[in-house]
Amino acid sequence: MLVEPERTPYDLRFRFLRFPVRVHPLFWVGSALMGASTLELGLHYMLIWIAVVFVSMLVHELGHALAFRLFGTDSEIVLYIFGGLAIPWSQVSGRGRRIIVSLAGPFAGFVLCGIVYATHKATGWGDLANGLLVWYLYISLIFVNLYWGILNLFPVFPLDGGQVSREVCGKFWGPRGKRISLKISIGVAAFLVVYALFCVIDARSRGEMLSFLPWWFPRGSLWTAILFGILGVQSYQLLKQEDWTERHWDDRVPWER
Ligand SMILES: [Zn+2]
Repeated sequence: MLVEPERTPYDLRFRFLRFPVRVHPLFWVGSALMGASTLELGLHYMLIWIAVVFVSMLVHELGHALAFRLFGTDSEIVLYIFGGLAIPWSQVSGRGRRIIVSLAGPFAGFVLCGIVYATHKATGWGDLANGLLVWYLYISLIFVNLYWGILNLFPVFPLDGGQVSREVCGKFWGPRGKRISLKISIGVAAFLVVYALFCVIDARSRGEMLSFLPWWFPRGSLWTAILFGILGVQSYQLLKQEDWTERHWDDRVPWER
């Protein structure tokens, strides 16, 4: 599960819209790793990539933070390796509210994507004619905010979609809901790993098997396979833990244990 990373002397700290923001040093490492292929084009591209990841993750977490604020609690934003967190000062009660908080992150990214697209359509700032660097900035802003938002909505723990799935399952199946949502999480993660690996193999054989899919349909990469592989295993472990707690339910009062 995503837990708050420890504080380090190398944290970058600032306030944005009155929210305290902390950027863990591993955030920069993770962003550079994800954009490692841009180094072939030049250091400028890598720097643009890292800036895009920074802005996009900040906007995503701001979505959660603003929703928390709407429901009466402020939060601290932490950017960490391969992801971020908005940690509220107090928990939000009510399934509907918690679902809105979870959806607000990807939604904020979609809004940013829409703004980038609309300003480009109106002024043409992202045209290739304005230079390769500007065009790369435009494309990565669209890509990161659109596809990462979609990826986050899959009902896999601990992604935002996984949180929504847990709330929805809890509403329909009560205490059994958590276990059902973990099973959904394992199933979806396994499916995405298979799909991503299939895409990788297909790309090696000139992409003939998946050519029926439209060009904009997200293709999986080795990164996607690794990510969902790890998340699937995590969900499996959480499910085993749930089973264990259920079988070893201890009724004794604490001092008798
Ligand atoms: Zn999120």
